[in-house]
Amino acid sequence: GLWQPVHLNQLLDECLVLIQTSGLEARIHFASHYDSSLPPIDADGELLKQVLLNILINAVQAISARGNITIRTLRWDDAHQAIAIQDDGCGIAPEHQKKIFDPFFTTKASGTGLGLALSQRIINAHHGDIQLVSQPGHGATFTLILPLHFQGT
Ligand code: ADP
Ligand code: MG
Repeated sequence: GLWQPVHLNQLLDECLVLIQTSGLEARIHFASHYDSSLPPIDADGELLKQVLLNILINAVQAISARGNITIRTLRWDDAHQAIAIQDDGCGIAPEHQKKIFDPFFTTKASGTGLGLALSQRIINAHHGDIQLVSQPGHGATFTLILPLHFQGT
């Protein structure tokens, strides 16, 4: 991987452009609330982009008709920044919440079940963390917590 200074707000905007210019997601309202004062973090931007796209596409797929996806960036603590991606889609049943990061776990007819497994590995490689909060029927929020500074291999 290529570790470089990465601006999370910029990375998110690049992902949103990809999703929104597909023209397929007019049914979904995206709202971004960024902390514009965030300094860049040490990260592999291309890998993080894959994580963000996985989570954003899952959020889109969780919304059956019209819905909202809200994206926030924030300072988590002195050493970490966070990205929270919230959707108001179908949510995740309690018995599934422990399994969604397992390779090949999917509830979709043509899902691979690899998106979150891969995403978790990428976040682990950054010494970060993924947290999930979901109320079935009301949506899900995935929060990525990333250290500002590279911690070695
Ligand atoms: P896939 O998208 O191919 O099913 P993922 O690893 O990306 O594989 O996701 C695994 C499962 O986690 C999904 O099949 C779905 O059941 C659940 N999931 C992930 N994100 C969401 C979300 N935002 N809302 C509801 N369910 C979700
Ligand atoms: Mg997926």
